[in-house]
Amino acid sequence: MRPDEDTLGPMVQVFIIGAGDGGKAVLSRLIQFDWFQIMGVADLNPEAPAISLAREQNIPIFLEDPVHLFEDMSIDLVFDLTGDASVGRRLIQLSCDRFDVATGEVAHVLWDVIRELEDRETGLKKKLGENEILLDISLMLSRSETPDEIFKAIVEGGMRMTNMPAGSLSVYNKHNNKLFLVATKGLSSEFYQNAVYSVRPGGLTEHILSNKDPILVPDLADFPSFNNPIILKEGIRSLIAIPLISDKGPVGILYSDDFEPRRFESTLIDGLRMLATQAVIAIQKQQAFEQIKDLSVRDPLTGLYNRRYLNKVLSSEIERSYRLNRPLSLLIFDVDKFKQVNDMYGHVMGDHVLQGLSKYLESVLRPYDVLARFGGEEFVILMSETTKEEAVASAERLREVISDLDLLPDRNKVTCSFGVCTLEGNEEGGVTPNEIIQFADKALYQAKHQGRNQVCVYKF
Ligand code: GH3
Ligand code: MG
Ligand code: MG
Repeated sequence: MRPDEDTLGPMVQVFIIGAGDGGKAVLSRLIQFDWFQIMGVADLNPEAPAISLAREQNIPIFLEDPVHLFEDMSIDLVFDLTGDASVGRRLIQLSCDRFDVATGEVAHVLWDVIRELEDRETGLKKKLGENEILLDISLMLSRSETPDEIFKAIVEGGMRMTNMPAGSLSVYNKHNNKLFLVATKGLSSEFYQNAVYSVRPGGLTEHILSNKDPILVPDLADFPSFNNPIILKEGIRSLIAIPLISDKGPVGILYSDDFEPRRFESTLIDGLRMLATQAVIAIQKQQAFEQIKDLSVRDPLTGLYNRRYLNKVLSSEIERSYRLNRPLSLLIFDVDKFKQVNDMYGHVMGDHVLQGLSKYLESVLRPYDVLARFGGEEFVILMSETTKEEAVASAERLREVISDLDLLPDRNKVTCSFGVCTLEGNEEGGVTPNEIIQFADKALYQAKHQGRNQVCVYKF
């Protein structure tokens, strides 16, 4: 090849003889690169494929045997794609040092090299595009503050990455083995109403979560297991399910959806994996934040609400009770002779007893009862919409069952004493949060005084 003094950089001057399919293939590649200058295309057949292409591209056409032309033409490289040995021989005789001759075989190799280069370039461009999206997503996530913003940013990131018009994010709760839909985009509000779903053994969700990699579903018609009524009703025809897994277990599932069948490229997987990692980090960060927030209202030993939280709820519940004239009951109870438990079994066992008792209480209460650890071995249950009779019945039931629990070794049992105070919602002058606790505590004191393991009620 010829070094060029031209500032445009070295141009390679090329001539193509033989304008059949091979000639056209070579020409169509060469014209994409501006470092080739095509000096001409020659063939005896005016309808040959490369002749037509040359005509469209305003490249000189020679409908004759062109070999004699080369004596006066500046040429670096001649492609001989005629397959005619005599043309080849004449070219070699003529070329001396003036130009190189490339035969069909060389053209093939060149063709392969060019194609490889092109593939790499498109691959690289795609990667750059993906990286740009990933960078955008991480910026968006770092700017997001509320859980909703974070979840929305993840869904939108998935949609951008996959170039799909809809998506959703579900977050996994390990305590009840359920997934909660936390964000959707491009889907109906009906979709949002189906907000909780269980992870059934052998079910689709479990399958997705046990998969390390994203699952690509180009056409739902071919994947009947994905065809649940909600998805069908939305008109979703293709989807990508991206499992979000941390080293501690499942975090959630990110879906991207389309309303048409799609063809997905397998190269998408790498980008989606990186997106999944970012999403997992963002969700975990948010959950850690929620936990810290939760710590301020929870007691560290038992996980129950603490006294501070109880006081807050108590104020609003009393206010509600008076506003709507509805009953509100408060139970306070204290473990009997707990000092002896510590003395006999040690403080660690004492802690275990409090934890076991709390776990049991949490499992039997109604969802809207508020259970708090009030002090050392003292607990409070706030029951809204609960009359005195109902509260006493609840306290009696709890007292009985607790005295039967296996919390201690040697078949020894733990008992509790209960004090109950109920507001009817119409007490003269109202009752403050401190007062209702004091009143219930008075009843508890009476229960202790009368021999423990019993329920007493405060009388106004
Ligand atoms: P009573 O029936 O009158 O309530 O007798 P009691 O022994 O339970 O009452 P007292 O108030 O004299 O003792 C309560 C004991 O509870 C003393 C304290 O060491 C123990 N305690 C309080 N908090 C904890 C705790 O978190 N862990 C353990 N192991 N013990 C605790
Ligand atoms: Mg006690
Ligand atoms: Mg006590």
